[in-house]
Parts: sequence; C-alpha cells; structure tokens
Amino acid sequence: MPLTRAETKSKPRAAAPATVPVMLPLALPGAYDYLPPDGRRLEPGQFVVAPLGPVEYLAVVWTLGEGEAPRDIERKKLREIVEVIDDVPRLPRVNLAFADWVANYTLSSPGMVLRMMMSASRAFDPPAPRYGVRLVGSPPQRVTPARARVIEAASNGMIWVKASLAEAAGVSSGVIDGLIDAGTLIAEPLPDWHALPLDLARERATLTPEQKDAAGEVLANTSGGFAVTLLDGVTGSGKTEVYFEAIAQALAKGKQALVLMPEIALTAQFIARCEERFGARPAEWHSGVPAPQRGRVWRAVIENKAKLVVGARSALFLPFPDLGLIVVDEEHDAGYKQEERVAYQARDMAVVRGRLGGCPVVLSSATPSIESLVNASQGRYRHVQLATRYKADGLPALTAIDMRANPPERGKWLSPVLVEAIAETLARGEQALLFLNRRGYAPVTLCRKCGFKFECPNCSAWLVEHRFRRRLECHHCGTFIPIPDKCPHCEAENALVPCGPGVERIAEEVAERFPEARRVLLSSDLTPNIAELRHTLREIEEREVDIVIGTQLVAKSHHFPGLALVGVVDGDLGLAQADPRAAERTFQLLSQVTGRAGREAIKGRGLIQTYMPEHPVIAALVSGDRDTFLAREIEARREARMPPFGRLAALLVSASSREAAEGYAREVARNAPAAAKIEVLGPAEAPLSVIRGRHRFRLLVKAAREADLQAYLRLWLSAVPKAKGDIRLTVDVDPYSFL
Ligand code: ADP
Ligand code: ZN
Repeated sequence: MPLTRAETKSKPRAAAPATVPVMLPLALPGAYDYLPPDGRRLEPGQFVVAPLGPVEYLAVVWTLGEGEAPRDIERKKLREIVEVIDDVPRLPRVNLAFADWVANYTLSSPGMVLRMMMSASRAFDPPAPRYGVRLVGSPPQRVTPARARVIEAASNGMIWVKASLAEAAGVSSGVIDGLIDAGTLIAEPLPDWHALPLDLARERATLTPEQKDAAGEVLANTSGGFAVTLLDGVTGSGKTEVYFEAIAQALAKGKQALVLMPEIALTAQFIARCEERFGARPAEWHSGVPAPQRGRVWRAVIENKAKLVVGARSALFLPFPDLGLIVVDEEHDAGYKQEERVAYQARDMAVVRGRLGGCPVVLSSATPSIESLVNASQGRYRHVQLATRYKADGLPALTAIDMRANPPERGKWLSPVLVEAIAETLARGEQALLFLNRRGYAPVTLCRKCGFKFECPNCSAWLVEHRFRRRLECHHCGTFIPIPDKCPHCEAENALVPCGPGVERIAEEVAERFPEARRVLLSSDLTPNIAELRHTLREIEEREVDIVIGTQLVAKSHHFPGLALVGVVDGDLGLAQADPRAAERTFQLLSQVTGRAGREAIKGRGLIQTYMPEHPVIAALVSGDRDTFLAREIEARREARMPPFGRLAALLVSASSREAAEGYAREVARNAPAAAKIEVLGPAEAPLSVIRGRHRFRLLVKAAREADLQAYLRLWLSAVPKAKGDIRLTVDVDPYSFL
C-alpha cells in the first residue's frame, strides 16, 4: 500500500526522538545534529553542553533553516547532548534568527556570531553570593564628615553595592568598612541582579517647542513595531533629551531599551545623564566591563531584569527577550564597524535586529551618514530634524586659516592666527581645544646625515616617535624600539630629526607658548585606563583645565561648558586617503570636533588650519552649508555607483611571502564568476602592503544595489581552491577600510 504524504512525514517522529540541530560557538558552516539526552524534547534556544571531538562546548539548540528537514544521519554516528542547562532562560528566538542573518550577510559562520552572543562565560557560573550594605540606624560614636556623607547617601534604606555607596558618598571603601565594624551598616546578600528600578515619573527637562515637535515625531514613529527614525540635529540641540522620551516610552511599556555608543569613553557622561533622568544607573556593556559584571549583566538581560542597557557595538548581540527600542548614538561613526572576525557594521545590524524583533530604531547624529540620509530621503527612514542649539545662540563660527598665507614659524605647527586666538581665549578665562588626529610625537624619524628613515621591520609603515614613552613605535603591529641616540645606518650622532607633528609635539609647542596655562594631553595611548580618562574628562568639564590637546578621543560627544575655541591643527589630514568616504568622514569629524565649542553661554569658534581652503570639505565647514556639500557627495556616489547606490565587498589575501599572496590573489580573481551588474577589481597590492610580516593584496567587488552580492560571493568562494600554507583570505562586506 503506498504511503500517503502525511504518513511519510510523521513516521520518523513516531519512532525514536528526533535529532536536534545544535549550534556550537565555533567557525563551523552551520548547526550539527545531536541526540537529545534521555529522549528529552528540546526547544530552540535551549543552552546545552554538546561534545565535538574530545571537547565539550556550551552550545545552543538551533532551528532548522527554511524548508530544511531533520537530516537523515545514521544514528550510530550521532552523539548525545551531554547536559541541558535548565537554569538559564532560552536564547530568544530573535537572536537565533539574527545570528543566522548576520552570518549570511557577512559571509561568516553563524557559530561565530553565536559566540559573540555568548561572550559572557561567567553568566553560566552558579551565582556567587554577593554582599551589599544597608543602613540600620545606630549611628557610630565618632561621626566624621566622610561618615556623615555615607549615612546621608544610604539614608534611603536601600541595600547598596559597597563600591556604589562609596562612590555616591565620595569616600574610600575603608570608610564603609569602618561603618560596618561600628554596626551602622550591615552586610546583606544582594539579589542576583542588583540595580535600582528605573523611575519613569521623575521630573525632567522641559522641552523647547522645537524639541517638543521633534519628540512628538520620534514618539509617533517609535510607538509601534519596527520603524527607523533618523534624528538629525546640530550638536547641542538636545537630541539626547529627545530620544530619552522614546526610551521612557519603551520602558513605560515594560520593554527593554538599548543605547549604542561608538566609544567606551563616551559612556560615562551618558550614564550619569541616564541616572539623572531615570533615577538609576543603566547596565553597562563593553570590553572594559570586568568579567564577573559582564556575566551578571548578560544574565540580567536574558532574564529581562536589566531594562536599560548602554553599550558599545557588541551590546547589540545581547540576548534581549523583550527589546522595545534601539538607539544608535553618533550613528555616522566609523567605530560601529567591526573589522576583526565577523566583520559587521553595528548601525546597519541594529536596523536588522530591529526589523527581526519588530522593534523601533532611532539613529541619532549631528552629521548623519550619507547612507542614512539617502534612506531618509527615499522614505525608508523618518527624518526628524533639530536646527537650533539649546543653550547657545548659534553654532560656532568656523574660519579656515590658510597656512600658505599664515605659516607657522620654522619647526612650529601653530599658525600665528591660531596662537593669537588661544591667547585671547585664555585671557577671557575660557578653554581651548587643539585637535590633531595623530598619536605620538612625530610620524617619521629621519637621519639628517644619510637620509635613513626608521621603518617597521614587520610592516610597510614608518615608526612613530612616542616621546613620553621614549620609543619609536609601529601603529600597525605595536613593535617598538627605544629611541636610539645615533643613526643605525651611518652611525652619525645627534643626527636624528623628527619630521611632522603628532599630538605630543603640539602639546610641547603649547607648553612653550603658554607655560602658565593648565594643559592636558588626551590620546588613547597615554590614557590607557577608562577610569583615568573619565576623571580627566570630568576635570575638563569642571574647567580645571585651560587647554586640551587631543586626538579623536576628545572629538566626540563630550559636553565641555567652558570650551570657547577649537583649533584643528591639520584640516587636510583625512582628505588624502584612498577611501571613498574620505570627504564625508573628514566633514563629520571636523564638524564634531568644532561642535565641542560654545555649547553653553560662551560664544564658540573654530579655526581650521589648511593648505587647501578651497577644498569642498573645508569650504562647506566654513560656510556652514552642509546640505549643498552632502547633496554633491550624494550625487558623486550615485554616479560612481558607490554605497549606498551600489554595494562593495573587499577580499583581502595575505601571506608571509609576497609571491604566495599575489599568486593566490590572482587565482581567486581568475575564479570570479561572470555576473551582470557585478564587477571585480584587482588584485592590487594593498596601500599598506605589509602588516605584521604579511604581504597583502586586495580585490574589490562592486555590485549594483539590486544584485545579490552574498549569493555571488558564496558561489565564487566555493569555486576558489583552498588556500595552502599560511595564505589567508578574508571577506569584508560593506568595507570601511581600504588600506
Ligand atoms: P545633543 O545630544 O544634540 O548634542 P544634548 O541633548 O546633549 O544635545 O543637549 C545639550 C545640552 O543642553 C545638555 O547639557 C542638555 O542637558 C541641555 N539641554 C538640552 N535640551 C534641554 C532642555 N529642554 N532643558 C534643559 N536642558 C537641556
Ligand atoms: Zn609594524
């Protein structure tokens, strides 16, 4: 008797328990099949321990792809799941779909995306009891001012994390211990997730009419399911206040909200603002958060206890079961692009996560990316604008200093015009900021006698002098040597000269010219720890500093009320790069950094040193005509079929031998399938031809918007012979780096 369809389908199910697909956090092509333990029925998202070879991995029960049936594998080859983790909630379904989507788009393995989602190993440890302290009444015999502050801070009767109480009262932890000994505070176990509940009824800023209109539009667009809002407002216009309303709306519905920031350094001021607005600290997620706390935050997120999370791009992969809003602050920032391992653009993936989870997304910036502006103009995003600053009467006046007409003295880098402006600023008791996006003292060191230049032994790059650390350093591989006193080539003594400036050299010039001023130099290599950086930023905010000299670390988002003057030491620096976004990025960076000036009562101004004042980017900054500049950029992109009008993927081949890298790159190119609307350029030697001893060749794929770039790449890569030896091929969809 022929079997009916239904019978065919149901038969294996009626037999032994079906296999389950399990995703291991490894670079595998997909899920593997396992047998559930004791024939248990497992749901997708369930955390399990599964063996592979001799190793057992924490893994996740996955879903079958669309139209995929359970695989028919010989049962004796199947291995059994070792353990089912029952005390951790299941990874939300949306995360499974998101991992598959990101993997498919970036051509990486879903297991590697899952690994990012699970990057909190401590979350799976049995919860260790932690102790907090609570005020119990009996005052100590001796009440010092420090003790009084603690008692005052703890007087709300809540249980406090010791460190937070110490911070709130501005005392050392010893003072807290003393009060425990005195019996004034008692130690009590903390609940597993300890965060004060957010207070949505707090009094908040009264919005200006313009802000109120903007907030109305944002709220309308974020009240339902997936929709993207581009919040486009000049620096200091109150974008944060406006999107706080959208956060409050999501939280009021009991949902979770996520705010992404491009840089960890930015989170401190923001967290303080959240605390003021919502009466409690949001959870923080980035690489600087210590492992035990990461574990607790991750658990609190998956258990839907952490309602507001602020974090770096990786926070997008947290397991939110009930996400009601994603805000991407400074959405134009290239810091959202991850280059290592899974190469993803977090702003773009935030939109995907929003769509998959039916959750609204707000992209906020004073200088939105061309991608987002085009999406807005084509009606895909709701465009909400804020044109005026809240506290100041206008944006800083920007002027170009033509360095051909006003050159600095020999061996100096600041034009007399800028020096004069700094002096005036200081005389008024206001602050100045000098910006140069180049770390170190000098980018090149040269022997005056023989012309020898110090080059990195592993990279095609000059060694950069770092005078504070007394060494020459490679910015690509980290190799360094102590600054020598004679030329290694001709052995001439006292013949080595630094060429060109880095921030350290500008700081030196400032010290010579303004010895009385309180100065601070901010550069990522000099302020390696976040606590210290946050401390310095607060000092600037509180006007304990007169002149700030810094790299892009100071360019973004900070609010320094006393800052009147921003001097851009080299306005031309970013323009010469082999990057289709060079003009856009320079415009954004210089608008951002000059936008730090005059954010409150003080009138701000910006001076940009340049050898090409007529360049469209500089001209647009000076005239303040952003829209004309952007319109031209957009037109140029459209004509060149560059993103967002076309799509790019970069293929990078590297190997320790130049011949091997080049040979394989050519082989890759030869295998490129022919396809309409897709063009393959290269291979060409990369502008940075050697990094860490590896020679590099690039191929660039240019596709029309409507072409299926991923399918094309997959087809291509499947035809490419496997790389031999130490040759490596990496794929970067939507590349931001072309070096
Ligand atoms: P943006 O995010 O657009 O740069 P912010 O939201 O940081 O702007 O606002 C700039 C400054 O003005 C902040 O100090 C903020 O607290 C303040 N501010 C903005 N709007 C208001 C308001 N309606 N009431 C009180 N302060 C405001
Ligand atoms: Zn190097």
